[in-house]
Amino acid sequence: MTKLLKDYPECIFCKNTKLKTFKQSSEKNFYINALIKDLQLNYKFLDKIKIKECKRCGSLQNNPWFNEEISQKIYTNIYGQHNKNWSNVINFFNTGKLHIHGNLFELINKNLKIKNYGEYKTPFMGLMLDYFLTEYKYKKKEFKKYFNLNIEYLKSRQVAGKNKKIQIECINRGNKILLEKNKINTNLLKKVSVKKYLLNDFSRFSWGINDNYKSVNSLALANEIFNNFKIINLHEKNIPKFDLFGIFLTLDHSENPKKILDFALKNSKYVIVNCHTSEKLNKQHLFTFTKKIINYLGKCGIYTKNINNYLNNKTKNSEIYFVCSRKNQIKF
Ligand SMILES: [Zn+2]
Repeated sequence: MTKLLKDYPECIFCKNTKLKTFKQSSEKNFYINALIKDLQLNYKFLDKIKIKECKRCGSLQNNPWFNEEISQKIYTNIYGQHNKNWSNVINFFNTGKLHIHGNLFELINKNLKIKNYGEYKTPFMGLMLDYFLTEYKYKKKEFKKYFNLNIEYLKSRQVAGKNKKIQIECINRGNKILLEKNKINTNLLKKVSVKKYLLNDFSRFSWGINDNYKSVNSLALANEIFNNFKIINLHEKNIPKFDLFGIFLTLDHSENPKKILDFALKNSKYVIVNCHTSEKLNKQHLFTFTKKIINYLGKCGIYTKNINNYLNNKTKNSEIYFVCSRKNQIKF
């Protein structure tokens, strides 16, 4: 068997090389079970993966951990579909309700004026759906129908391998669906609220190219249903200025999390970060932040405020929400 593991000797976030051993028993879960099966490993193999704690930023990191090839395989093939991302959007269009971040969206709108909003990666994990709900009149039946029509429309364009006659039928059916979904859109649209940007990279530690539902990719669906919406990448020349940039459970899926946070801080007045901070690190993640991250960012001269106490989603003890900024004090 080729070598599956690789050394990650420095903290992936702050690049510190002083990591100390952190004792923790590993637990089985859905992801671990899938990993073991698909990579044809046994549970004992996972004992090779030890946990280290960064003495500077407090992050917990597995070392050694899976090499780039395997980590790409984990998030693209072994569990390519980001379950929560999809259940968020499916539940939203079925019920019109958003239970993702409690009262966070109200809190933000009370405190900040936002015209340009950016977000990192998975499109249905953050506030994009909240914006959708402010832009459209909610009608239960139409919402459900609108979601399904968008999926059907995108599917109708997948005609590779079909004969000419079926290809034409598919395309024509797609054209009809397009008219129908545009009609619902026009009927329900109240006003477009903010300009929305989604920062996409090709991190191997993250879902993306195979994050599909009924063969439709989440980015394609987002691009279809969101108004005033643009997908951008890190290397673009004309990066817009954001009033707020959101990072929702995605920073620990970046190969270079500091670079993503720096990008957000540089281009945005405020950055909101929601991340796992459990004192447990499972084997399917390379690393996790701990609550110490807030202090560390403060020491780096970044205004940082934990806003968990202002939020009403108390079930999320293992996650924190913090707002940070390079120039603006956080007055929440
Ligand atoms: Zn560190």
